[in-house]
Amino acid sequence: MTPGFTPIGPSTKMDVVGSARVHDKRSEVAGGGDPDGSAGGAGVLPRGIDKSRAPAPIVRLRDVTKSYGSGAAKTQVLRGVSFDIDSGEFVALVGQSGSGKSTLLNIIGGLDQPDAGEVEVFGTDTMRSSDKKRAGIRNASIGFVFQAFNLLDHLTVLGNVVLPASFAHDAKDVDARGREALRRVGLSDLASRRPGELSGGQKQRVAIARALFNAPTLLLCDEPTGNLDSETGREVIDFFRELNAKDSVTLLIVTHERRVSSVANRVIAMRDGMLVETTDEALAAAHGGGPA
Ligand code: ADP
Ligand code: MG
Repeated sequence: MTPGFTPIGPSTKMDVVGSARVHDKRSEVAGGGDPDGSAGGAGVLPRGIDKSRAPAPIVRLRDVTKSYGSGAAKTQVLRGVSFDIDSGEFVALVGQSGSGKSTLLNIIGGLDQPDAGEVEVFGTDTMRSSDKKRAGIRNASIGFVFQAFNLLDHLTVLGNVVLPASFAHDAKDVDARGREALRRVGLSDLASRRPGELSGGQKQRVAIARALFNAPTLLLCDEPTGNLDSETGREVIDFFRELNAKDSVTLLIVTHERRVSSVANRVIAMRDGMLVETTDEALAAAHGGGPA
């Protein structure tokens, strides 16, 4: 069944906040602490996955560093980040503002380049690939969803959704695929509206439809519920869960919200450009010390 965004009936409205799964994850050290240098292997596999049978990761990072500026103005944003994401995972990336989460997401998506380390996405060394090759991987396999929606106001809803087709010279059935993406997020009726006429939740659905347009296998989301009220945010999260469970889309979601991290099957915490153990303390800090 294709996931439907609306209506969210009682059967799909699960208690995602009540779960104590996050607190069960304190033994999972996310990278950094692996003595044999294969950080990202031991300690970061989701429970229930046998390492010996684990598939090749679709994202593999080793000792990734990144700085901005130079001299006295130099900011070291990433200080050696290592982890893997396997196909089918739903990973939450948490951490205080400025800890380097967006930078990391952009590097994985090929929108930014690290200074050093290793970055493999779908088995390709994207650090040593051409811009064209990186763009090819992005267009074929990766969808992005941002906090601020990033829709173009002068285009219709459908125009925004089919925007990825403009980066492919041989795109086929563009409108039909755009309408199908809109149907999946429950917005079939709004195809000819402009973003300015939509609510925040509807805008984010359009942005998600755009991210799904090329049928990505990896969805990178940067605080996708940050601008939404809690009910709308919950619908978006439920939709992501369905995408992950039914369509096997791998998810990496940057979030400050426990209701997102509590439904992920793994939580990675960052502090000052490094991964830290996902202890209760680190998670509380990452979530701004807010209520569980
Ligand atoms: P987060 O998403 O965790 O809030 P970011 O990755 O956005 O963190 O930023 C981490 C640090 O890098 C911040 O100190 C930010 O000011 C700095 N930074 C991010 N992007 C740039 C940039 N393009 N130029 C200079 N500094 C940047
Ligand atoms: Mg950010």
